[in-house]
Amino acid sequence: MTRKIRTRIAPSPTGFLHLGTARTALFSWAFARHFGGDFILRIEDTDVARSTQEAVDQIIAAMQWLELGYEEGPYYQMQRLERYRSVIVQMVADGTAYHCYCQSDELDAMRGAQRARGEKPRYDGRWRPEPGKPLPQPPAGVPPVVRFRNPLDGDVSWDDLVKGLITINNRELDDLIIARADGTPTYNFCVVVDDWDMQISHVLRGDDHVNNTPRQINILRALGAELPVYGHVPMILGPDGDKLSKRHGAVSVMQYEEAGYLPEAMVNYLSRLGWSHGDDELFSRGSLVEWFDGAHLAKSPAQWDAAKLNWVNAQYIKAMPDAALSKLVAAQMMRLGVVADDGRLSGICALFKDRCDTTVALARWAVGFYAPVTPEAGEYARLVTDAVRPAVALLADKLAACAWERAAIAAAIKEVLAATSLKMPQLAMAVRVLLLGTSQTPSLDAVIELFLRETVVHRLKKG
Ligand code: GLU
Repeated sequence: MTRKIRTRIAPSPTGFLHLGTARTALFSWAFARHFGGDFILRIEDTDVARSTQEAVDQIIAAMQWLELGYEEGPYYQMQRLERYRSVIVQMVADGTAYHCYCQSDELDAMRGAQRARGEKPRYDGRWRPEPGKPLPQPPAGVPPVVRFRNPLDGDVSWDDLVKGLITINNRELDDLIIARADGTPTYNFCVVVDDWDMQISHVLRGDDHVNNTPRQINILRALGAELPVYGHVPMILGPDGDKLSKRHGAVSVMQYEEAGYLPEAMVNYLSRLGWSHGDDELFSRGSLVEWFDGAHLAKSPAQWDAAKLNWVNAQYIKAMPDAALSKLVAAQMMRLGVVADDGRLSGICALFKDRCDTTVALARWAVGFYAPVTPEAGEYARLVTDAVRPAVALLADKLAACAWERAAIAAAIKEVLAATSLKMPQLAMAVRVLLLGTSQTPSLDAVIELFLRETVVHRLKKG
């Protein structure tokens, strides 16, 4: 019987959803979707000091924004403590785990002696039960930790979906603490019990977890659990080759929402970081799901490329229907304190979207149609000259009376040029600066048509 495909994303709520975690979530989600399986959200919140509800809310908001829907969860590890405890009790009873009463000074001395002998420091197994081995007397009043009885010999290996066969000798692994002296379970142990209970078939995660995997496999084996397939995805690197971090710019998914990126563009761009489908660069979420079967995951790390993300986003902005785009732009304008509640915004998006790679850039243009603009000082001084002012005033008069559509506006501009000795660029640049603050805009008649007549007349008269 083949196993049902079940994947999970297991963020720790100690901060916002990081781009790297979002990419792992995306891969896990697409893989589950591809095989008609389940995708599960699990919140790894056992680091109580650093976990916050705000971070949980942010993670969920980011998943929703990226439209990474999950069949199950969010599960919270802190709500599963009883379960972890009962597994630990069972393991001690079965002999796959044992109590260790070593105090930290004792461990320090042990490690010091090992180092002095030129050995790698590791737990020496002094409380590990072996057939025929006498154990020390448990000291009075010392609560023990629980250690996993890791196999002493042999290898642990797995066929990593990304990295291929990985083999670790058990001598490299010592007896991991699975419960602290206060009874709280430790990180690797919780992950194991969760993956087991949640019947996770495939664990896709960052390769910063590669060292945890042999330990987790040994514990799963000791529990008689079916092993998931593991795939460790290389980290995303910044442009300088270091692991992508705040130093390189925004790393929280929701910062990209704020900065005017479309979720579809993020999904498209993120999926290409460490995965490929031929030469395809632009593809829908549907195609990703159709193609993403766990193959073609790159062994080498991907590099964050802000310019490429901007290009991808620009393509999605261009392709988006204007009415839908205008809703996103209106929301960005609200953040700038400007309300755009009339029917003009779709047309403004249509006219400007070719020159914008984010909805924020589009909103900055659109704001000029709804709120006063301050012309760029240099442009103003250079282009709105005394030689041009009379023509601008004449245009204002003509526009005060003409029909409010592009052809009539174009005719009014032509009449002004005919009546003065100015060339089109001289007049058009000055008018652009007065209307939108800058001389680089789309065709002037198209721009003017999207303004309210009184705004145009007022800005040109004020000139
Ligand atoms: N909580 C871990 C992290 O945020 C994920 C662990 C896992 O995927 O196994 O990196």
